[in-house]
Amino acid sequence: MKFISIVVPVYNEEENIEFFYQEVCKHMEPLPYKFELLFVDDGSSDATPLLLEKISQQDSRVRGLIMARNYGHQLALTCGLDHADGDGVITMDGDMQHPPEMLPVLLAKWEEGFEVVQTIRISTEGVSWFKSVTSGLFYKLINAMSKVHIQEGGSDFRLLDKAVVQSFRRYKERARFIRGMIGAIGYRQALVEFVAPKRFAGTSKFSLRKMMHFALDGITAYSKLPLRFAFFMGLLFALISFAVTMHVVYIKLFTLEAVPGWATISASILFLGGLQLLGLGIIGEYVGRIFEEVKQRPLYLLRVELKQQQKE
Ligand code: UDP
Ligand code: MG
Repeated sequence: MKFISIVVPVYNEEENIEFFYQEVCKHMEPLPYKFELLFVDDGSSDATPLLLEKISQQDSRVRGLIMARNYGHQLALTCGLDHADGDGVITMDGDMQHPPEMLPVLLAKWEEGFEVVQTIRISTEGVSWFKSVTSGLFYKLINAMSKVHIQEGGSDFRLLDKAVVQSFRRYKERARFIRGMIGAIGYRQALVEFVAPKRFAGTSKFSLRKMMHFALDGITAYSKLPLRFAFFMGLLFALISFAVTMHVVYIKLFTLEAVPGWATISASILFLGGLQLLGLGIIGEYVGRIFEEVKQRPLYLLRVELKQQQKE
């Protein structure tokens, strides 16, 4: 019988875990698979780790990995994928926004021979207009800037075949945008649509700051276009200054007027100074990321591994 690992990153989800666990079991038990639920606790400060310990003691299909601190959703997913040995590995959120009813649909697509079954969120119930507008803009921006196409509404709810998981583990970068990585990894991919319901309980763990950081990770990891910005601006201003010089020479040689304009000079100096700092800032952003990557620190540390794997 095939073995399925379900990887679930959780961060302060004490109100959701129990219900989520029951719902997943309800939808997985009728199917002809052995499965494990692999919770990755992303440094929660509430009762989440205690609940995981309790559930994993009661049910041998439940495993818990407790990380040493909060590393963020993408690294928690990575940690889960590193430890999941199923023939198929499903990643999903623990707040019921990735509906467990979809599990049989993902598995059926996998049985058809697709090695990656990616879900697309066609809408989210009760999402703020701010989040939907910024998310739409982000996907337009990143697709305009990078070679890899990243599907709008793509979520981290997906099924990966064992072979894809093994390939994925060879990607060692720190700043991760797993959606983009999976898009670029290839294999036979299927898309499945779903409507994300509201969170079962609690609030979103993504602050505006975390979201902006995530967007920046996505853009810098997939595009070198911002780095070329200074080059194109330089070209543009070289052309403009050439035209202005011609104008000045013309006035000097062929007219009796003086060339006016200290105001123009200070405005253009300020403008170009601003542009130069902007260019430097962009370079700085990439250099900072190079610095983070070359340190080669471990991606995450595990504090406790609740129970060893039960696959037999
Ligand atoms: N999460 C995590 N680490 C974090 C933030 C979130 O492991 O730093 C988990 C969270 O517990 C949930 C999933 O990632 O299971 C998605 O987070 P959330 O529902 O807050 O994001 P949203 O659905 O609002 O985009
Ligand atoms: Mg959510």
